[in-house]
Amino acid sequence: MCATHRKHLILVIAMFLVLLASLSTPAYAEENVIKIGVLAYRGEEEALTMWTPTADYLSEQVPEYTFVIVPLDNDNIAPAVERAEVDFVTTNPGSYVGLEYKYGVSRIATLENLRQGNDYEVFGAVIFTRADRGDINDLKDLKGKSFMAVHEDAFGGWWMAWKEFKDDGIDPHREFSTLKFSGFPHDLIVYAVKNSEVDAGTVRTDTLERMAEDGLIEINEFKILNQQHVEGFPFMLSTRLYPEWTFAKLRHAPDELSEKVAVALLTMPADSRAAKAAKCAGWTIPLDYNPVHECLKELRVGPYEEYGEVTLGEVLRQYWYDAILIIAALLLMIFTTRHVMGINKRLQYEIAERKRTERKLKRSWDFVQTIMDNMADPMLVINVSDYKVQMANGAARKHLKGNDPVAMSLTCYQAIHNRDTPCSDQDEPCPLRQVIDTKEPARVMHVHHDEAGDELFVDVVVTPIFDENGEVIQIIESSRDITEIKKTEKALRETSDYLEKLIDYTNAPFIVWNPESRITRVNHAFEHLTGYTSDELLYKNMQMLFPDSSIHETLSEIDRTLSGEYWELLEIPILHKDGTIRLTLWNSANLYGEDGKTVLAIIAQGIDITERKQAEEALKKYAEELKSSNELKDLFTDILRHDLLNPAGIVKGFTEVLLNMEDDEKKLHLLEKIEKSNEKLINMIQSAAKFAKLQSVDEIDFEEKYLDSIFNDVVNNFRPMLDEKRMTLDFVAEGTYPANVNPMIEEVFANIMSNAIKYSPQESRIIVDILDSDEKWKVTVTDFGNGISDEDKPKIFTRFKRVDKSGVKGTGLGLAIVKRIIELHGGEVGVEDNPAGQGSVFWVTVGKA
Ligand code: ADP
Repeated sequence: MCATHRKHLILVIAMFLVLLASLSTPAYAEENVIKIGVLAYRGEEEALTMWTPTADYLSEQVPEYTFVIVPLDNDNIAPAVERAEVDFVTTNPGSYVGLEYKYGVSRIATLENLRQGNDYEVFGAVIFTRADRGDINDLKDLKGKSFMAVHEDAFGGWWMAWKEFKDDGIDPHREFSTLKFSGFPHDLIVYAVKNSEVDAGTVRTDTLERMAEDGLIEINEFKILNQQHVEGFPFMLSTRLYPEWTFAKLRHAPDELSEKVAVALLTMPADSRAAKAAKCAGWTIPLDYNPVHECLKELRVGPYEEYGEVTLGEVLRQYWYDAILIIAALLLMIFTTRHVMGINKRLQYEIAERKRTERKLKRSWDFVQTIMDNMADPMLVINVSDYKVQMANGAARKHLKGNDPVAMSLTCYQAIHNRDTPCSDQDEPCPLRQVIDTKEPARVMHVHHDEAGDELFVDVVVTPIFDENGEVIQIIESSRDITEIKKTEKALRETSDYLEKLIDYTNAPFIVWNPESRITRVNHAFEHLTGYTSDELLYKNMQMLFPDSSIHETLSEIDRTLSGEYWELLEIPILHKDGTIRLTLWNSANLYGEDGKTVLAIIAQGIDITERKQAEEALKKYAEELKSSNELKDLFTDILRHDLLNPAGIVKGFTEVLLNMEDDEKKLHLLEKIEKSNEKLINMIQSAAKFAKLQSVDEIDFEEKYLDSIFNDVVNNFRPMLDEKRMTLDFVAEGTYPANVNPMIEEVFANIMSNAIKYSPQESRIIVDILDSDEKWKVTVTDFGNGISDEDKPKIFTRFKRVDKSGVKGTGLGLAIVKRIIELHGGEVGVEDNPAGQGSVFWVTVGKA
């Protein structure tokens, strides 16, 4: 084109634009309403459903304006843009490049189309025939065949395929037998090919996969022609890939508004209502639409319908040589640009895809890491080839005292066992080897030792990780310290053994029976009690153990236990194998099932009380006899005191009378003998009665009295006797000796004093002393008589054990009474040899006041 022509053209375009501007009022000016024209390739209604949420979304994001959708079909979209009846337009790439070329609309975003759950910014077309068409294997085979596309102006539905035909040197309009256009949707073409209405067809990518997934077709019914493989693009493809739908601004739309719209679109969340309605994952930065331009230009369709026809002819005529050079240069440029752009595009796509995959991977990895780190048990991932730890969770690092085996590049045996060779011995078998050999998960027990040298039991569970060839490449090793469980198990086992032995060897008979009253366990003592061996008893009915005389009563007691009651000291007669009956005493307990109600077994433990019972019976009899003999004793005492003492008193009285009346020496002598014997009799009766009375008394009253003054009274009473035998008495104790005593204590001292005088020779000496013995006073009476032999010492305090002392009067009851009175005082009495070598020392103790 020469410079004059160019200037002329620019002038014409400028004038046209001025005219256009003066004729049309930009849509946005009307009450801040922003109109978005959308290509309604499936009718107005569907377009409104698809895009109105996007308009609403934009109204929300850019609140100064209200966005509305204006559905426009293929024929109306260009005039509407030309007349600026809309402010923005969203349409397919073929349509867009036309509008861009003709009316200068410019893209602000590219759609991220949602297909089969993933989002794609690019798409293509697939050319296909029936799988059984052996005669059609590549594009060239379609010459002379019938072919179907969606619409003659459809970019994905026809132009993309046409471009491939053209590149392959095929002119479909001339060389196909028929070229039909089905109209939307693309599915119609698939059915037409399937039903052999046409030989082949083209649809946009993912149509076949979607229909197969919906169960409308089987994917293997079709054969893909000119199949292309682009990494990261999963759908069947026969053409190159082109960018998706675009969102473009018209020239008049202000930049500031366009920027806001672009930002809103790029940040549209994939899960927003707008994205869902538009079946997309949102929008991305606008892609390069040059490949689309190139496609359309080459096909001379859309905006390029008249492309280069006239000018090229003229140029060729006038400047054919330059033109050839320019065309060659242009072709080279186009080729290079296309090539670079193609590479660039693929790279961009691959980078985006890789980033997406990386993001997904990272999310999955973070997820796995979080789970592993939050597990309580230590967990390692170990390389099979070199035993190196590839991963260690938080619990494992904690277990290894904060050391990270991955960072330190440790092997499992270095990290866990702190040694240089893999596990091999019996205590620590190598789970890794086991898993490699079996390719199955394994579980082993390791015995470790803690710092104190105590055993630690570790339960190790290992799971293999396989490569694509099914070889184990790594293992996941999870370990749990089960020392406490092991210890508890051992303790339980020991306790159970101990209890078993205890039951078996205890002296108490032990029996267990089940709800059917069958014996399930007995111990040795039970065998001994019954005379049966355990084998003779097991699983027999309990009734064999009871004698006929009490069997019903005992069986009803057993029934009671089956209903949940238990025995507390129940007497049961047991029939021994030899026919004898043993009396036993039992208590029982019930063992319940998990529901806490069902009785599973009854345990009873007994004691053989046959002998005890017999002894009790004998004791009872003896007690009864004793009671009656006691009653007899009381009767005798009573007789002594009243029936014997009275006549003796009368004898005493009359003897005294007769002694006064009688002068005859001989008779007087006889009367004196009667008087003496009678006096002895009275003494004896009084002492015996007193002793009997003291025996039946358990408690006496005490009062505070002075032992020194009591003794002085006693000594005074005995003064005549002492004088008669010309004896001396030394009362050594000086001071006062208050004591808690009963007046009967005087009798004690009198008796001891009387004996000391009675059993001592003339002119001998008696020493009385009172000694301090902690809480008691110890009164001692020392004489220098003949003393008492060691043999007699224990006897003299016993009733009627009178040591033979001829010529000395006495009843033999005195010291027995002394002992009883002192016992009632809580004191003690005794006799020792006089340390001076002759005579005795009598002593008693009484409590101080
Ligand atoms: P009796 O009425 O016979 O004196 P006792 O019970 O008072 O009865 O004494 C028992 C016996 O202990 C006396 O018969 C005597 O043989 C012996 N006996 C008691 N006191 C003395 C003593 N001081 N010296 C030697 N023998 C004594």
